[in-house]
Amino acid sequence: MTNKELAEFMFPNITKTIADLEKEYPERPEGTIVTRYAPSPTGFMHIGNFYQVVVNYLLAKQSDGVFFLRNEDTDQKREIEGAVEYIMHVLEHYKFIPDECEIKNGETRGNYGPYIQSERKEIYHAFIKHLISEGKAYPCFLTQEEMDSIRESQTRDKRRIGIYGRYAKYRNLPIEEAAERVKNGEPFVIRLKSEGNFNTKFKFEDLAFGTMEMPENDIDTVIMKSSNQLPTYHFAHLVDDHLMRTTHVIRGQEWVSSVPTHYELFKMFGFKMPKYVHTPLILKKDGDKIRKISKRLDPEARMTYYEEKGYPIYSVIEAIMTIANSNYEQWREGHPDAPFTEFEFSPKKMSASGALFDLDKLDNISKNYLSKLKATEVFDLLDTWSKEYDKEFNELINKDKEYTTNILNIEREQKKPRKDYAYMAEVKNYIWYMYDELFTNPEYQFDEKFSKDDINEVLNTYFESYYDENDDKDTWFNKMKDMAEKLGYETNMKEYKEHPEAKKGSIADVSNIIRVGVTSLSQTPDLYIILKLLGKDRIKNRLDMLK
Ligand code: GLU
Repeated sequence: MTNKELAEFMFPNITKTIADLEKEYPERPEGTIVTRYAPSPTGFMHIGNFYQVVVNYLLAKQSDGVFFLRNEDTDQKREIEGAVEYIMHVLEHYKFIPDECEIKNGETRGNYGPYIQSERKEIYHAFIKHLISEGKAYPCFLTQEEMDSIRESQTRDKRRIGIYGRYAKYRNLPIEEAAERVKNGEPFVIRLKSEGNFNTKFKFEDLAFGTMEMPENDIDTVIMKSSNQLPTYHFAHLVDDHLMRTTHVIRGQEWVSSVPTHYELFKMFGFKMPKYVHTPLILKKDGDKIRKISKRLDPEARMTYYEEKGYPIYSVIEAIMTIANSNYEQWREGHPDAPFTEFEFSPKKMSASGALFDLDKLDNISKNYLSKLKATEVFDLLDTWSKEYDKEFNELINKDKEYTTNILNIEREQKKPRKDYAYMAEVKNYIWYMYDELFTNPEYQFDEKFSKDDINEVLNTYFESYYDENDDKDTWFNKMKDMAEKLGYETNMKEYKEHPEAKKGSIADVSNIIRVGVTSLSQTPDLYIILKLLGKDRIKNRLDMLK
């Protein structure tokens, strides 16, 4: 029996050849950069994955290239329900829309699909069949127990772990015997018959990590699993990225150690390898230490975090960009209003030693960004976020949309706008006191040096005899000054600092009593505007609460 006959015997229904498939998946127009995000639906998206998405998208879009999404679902035991939908949701939310992908209802966008690995079984089998027929792959019948015992002995003897050389027991099994075992239904995997030599090094150029020297692969890597006859990641990567004509593979640095396997696979088929960009680990500061960000320990490692908090998409992308390229921040200073896509991204400027992601920095970016938006834009963000995450608040802000917008407009649309909140979930903390529905049992922060009588005197006099909601700011302030003098408070702050004992308090104390009286807080934005927005009726109710 020949290898070709074995291949035919094992894959009788696979009639397409590699040459046929090459025709079905033609080369893309010369010079097109083709990138792909290729997640396995085995978990929810990590910030590191998002970083890869951003890099994928930028590389493709900055060159009029193609960015596609491929669902790598060959590990079906580990698949998590809803993971694919969530990935698509994130891409849509951040507007990284793939040019090619599976869309809902079984429809496909793009000519290089299916973009879902479990639907490409026959394509992989054509490639595997070819390798078997050339004697470059073989069925392996090692049982789990045998493999465990190989691993134990390798560990004990301090040898490299894996099926290679003398451990590759079925590598040279007579073809007839292999066929016989397959016929008898013995479980098997297909392994690559590696031709590499571990003592020979090859050079590999990674666009982010630079030139690396690595030993050749000599492991008979599994290329097809026994359970579902689907390929392993290594083999699927070769087939898909070759046929889909990927030019740049952007993936996590955990894959660097697999490069020798991929190098050998591409060489075996005589295919050109794509370029590789291995993305660095995302790090975070933890006290004095810097460590890898962890899905288990750090809520911000999951992409769900940013949506739950209601960060604008701009802020999250911007924070990623600052860690993706070291010169991004400098560019941003010179181009404050440009879309991030105008920045000339270069994988060479990615830090290979890890990317430090800092939530404080994200918050700063976000506060800055939000402070420059129009109140109506902030309202829309708040509305969208609260609809999903705080329904009660959503009803409240929509009860009088104009009132809410005016609140959001306090100290906005001016040269130095206020920078209070970084994300929507914290907006309520800054504006709650403007809503009677939330102002039910406030803790008043009056200065303890004033008695209840002092407080009542200021509030009653002010609101009964002075306050007029139609006053302009100067009149408003002059009136307060006037009243302060009459009630025995110092209006000259310099004077007051020198002789604090001479008067009951200062004009600042007067305005603070008013501020606390109507908001309960000793610090708020512009009191003049707050009073104007609250209006007579609300103020009256609040004064009644104090009685
Ligand atoms: N499915 C692999 C992963 O999720 C993809 C790696 C790659 O991009 O090639 O890690």
